[in-house]
Amino acid sequence: MLIPTAIQAQTLSANSPVTEQDVLELFPKATVIGEKQTSPPIWPIYQLQELIGYVFESRDLSSLTGFSGNPIDLLIGIDAQGRFTGVKIMAHHEPIFLHGLGMEPLLGFVDQYRGNRINDRIILKKPETQTQKAGKGTVYFDSVTKATVSIIVVNDTIMSSALKVARQTLEEFAQQAPARVKNEIFESRSWDELLQTGLVEHWQLSRETVEQGLGSSLSDYPETEWSETPEEEIIDLYFAYLNAPIVGKNLLGNAEFLRLQNKLKKDESAILVMSKGFYEYIDPNFKPGTIPERFNLVQNGLPIPVRDLNFYNYDAVKLITGAPVFENTRIFRIRPQTGFDPSATMDLQFNFDIKKNHLIIDRAAFTQTHQLPERLFERQAAQVEVARQATWVTIWLSRIPEVVILTIALILLTYIFVKQQTLMTTISHFTFIRWPFLFFTLFYVGFYAQGQLSVVNIFTLFLELLRGFDIGVFLLDPVIFILWIHTVISLILWGRGVFCGWLCPFGALQEMVTWLASKLKIKQWRYSKLTHRRLLKMKYVILFALTGLSFYSLEQAMTLSEVEPFKTAITLVFIRSYPFVLYAVLLLGIGLYISKFYCRYACPLGAGLALLGKFHIFEKLRRRSECGSKCQMCRNRCQIDAIDDSGAVNYSECIQCLECLAIINDKNQCSIDLLTEKKARTNNGIAIPIEVTT
Ligand code: SF4
Ligand code: SF4
Repeated sequence: MLIPTAIQAQTLSANSPVTEQDVLELFPKATVIGEKQTSPPIWPIYQLQELIGYVFESRDLSSLTGFSGNPIDLLIGIDAQGRFTGVKIMAHHEPIFLHGLGMEPLLGFVDQYRGNRINDRIILKKPETQTQKAGKGTVYFDSVTKATVSIIVVNDTIMSSALKVARQTLEEFAQQAPARVKNEIFESRSWDELLQTGLVEHWQLSRETVEQGLGSSLSDYPETEWSETPEEEIIDLYFAYLNAPIVGKNLLGNAEFLRLQNKLKKDESAILVMSKGFYEYIDPNFKPGTIPERFNLVQNGLPIPVRDLNFYNYDAVKLITGAPVFENTRIFRIRPQTGFDPSATMDLQFNFDIKKNHLIIDRAAFTQTHQLPERLFERQAAQVEVARQATWVTIWLSRIPEVVILTIALILLTYIFVKQQTLMTTISHFTFIRWPFLFFTLFYVGFYAQGQLSVVNIFTLFLELLRGFDIGVFLLDPVIFILWIHTVISLILWGRGVFCGWLCPFGALQEMVTWLASKLKIKQWRYSKLTHRRLLKMKYVILFALTGLSFYSLEQAMTLSEVEPFKTAITLVFIRSYPFVLYAVLLLGIGLYISKFYCRYACPLGAGLALLGKFHIFEKLRRRSECGSKCQMCRNRCQIDAIDDSGAVNYSECIQCLECLAIINDKNQCSIDLLTEKKARTNNGIAIPIEVTT
């Protein structure tokens, strides 16, 4: 297909949105776009007669899906040397960019690929972190704050698509058919024999080698943390591929080898790395379960990500007799989609960083080749598959602290609910328990961990159920996932109140506004019960309208779900365009005069939870026969009017703040107790003036 001088807007093939103009943005010098090939699905790009690269759509090559449950469609260009010529966003449904941050940060992110090689090791870093000088083959990309999950999905989509194409089109990246370990090959070997036969690799880096790599003497680095400059080996490292029984079973022993096999998933590989010396292969800040920065594997010029298996998390290291014992002995997992071939040459790479002064870090990279005997393997048909699981596992591992802290908080909250009768015995106990939790919910769960549930999650669930449920879509955000699991369980047990009263960051923010109103002595607006009952229905109308619309157009439903101020107030911390901020502030402002106005009358999520939690098991809020007849105190104190005139609690509206439980249990608060006590004292001739609120 020849490119005429005028810009072409028609698509290049019937079932694709890609136009010639799109391709020209990735290859400005292209003169000819070849016909789209089918295997792999790519457009070859020519300058006159010369093939200069390929363009392809990620949706043809990757099945990864983003937050919305839909794939992110990217047009990717790579040149004939395996360098990105650019990435263009063709379509996506990521809510954070569509209805929050806007497209600019996403465009800025994908722009970073241009000029980098597809075998570069990309490390995503927070934009506010200082740019680090990358070692050879490593590049640091600025991620996008508040859109980490979407950015990880975009990066995985780009890299997996590009590697698939490169492996099939560029000689440098060509991949042999993967090899399978012959499990039947096993001969008993001692530690020395494993070393002598090269089944275990021993790699030492001397001071001289390191100094050559750095280009200067180690004594030129006064800022290093070493107490004295090493004279001999800087590092003494052992490496072994464990899947081969002749290596793994001999090194670990039968029981540990079996434990390892059970821990690995299908087609995964495991390597053992251990070292001693002045400079360890993992840095002091290394977190178990992550990728080491100092050590990596390379095959065929492509980085092979290795991730700590946490194999020795709770278990002592038990290796073959004669093996040295090192503090840093770890087993790393290699996923099949990395294209790792254990029968091919592996390049062990060691990245050596050393601080010259507080501004300059010098770096040197060292490589050692490891090759296992061919007889240990048999070949099988080539297949390069990208498993979607890898993305959510990566995300979960990167958010372990949030997962742990949130889980502990949820266990604590469950305990509070189980023991509510004994914990909420006075108003001061109530305040002592509730307010710290509300601060935790707003600042940690909401602002920090971005754990604000939304009605969008509900209709994404319905849509997923309709098109075949895929749990991977929901696992992409561990904090949201855990909150939903807890919310579903608490809906069954106690109804909507556990979430709305304790775990909703915007709900907590509104409660703080109500507190402020009381401190400012702002008089609450009064209106009739009929108006209140009518207004209550509004949130259900909004819920049904949005859910119905989502079946017709998810995009429109997402846009209209901006009725929730959550994205503005919690996700983006009010840093957003003026109309959105005004809307959120307005809702909070109304909350000064009508406590929790948004929760009571407008929140579609609250409405959805009220419906889902209607038939909960426990209704434990204590009531007494006088409630509603002789006394209206709890009804008057309930911030959201969830107590009827009769004294009964309306659990569809109640947010289970537990204040009425504390009032009823507190002898200095409950009017009936106060009156009874007053009568008793008066009868004894001791009249004590007591003010009773009803
Ligand atoms: S009603 Fe809505 S805003 Fe209020 S606590 Fe529940 S989910 Fe949050
Ligand atoms: S009924 Fe009781 S627990 Fe429910 S919201 Fe009102 S005061 Fe809180």
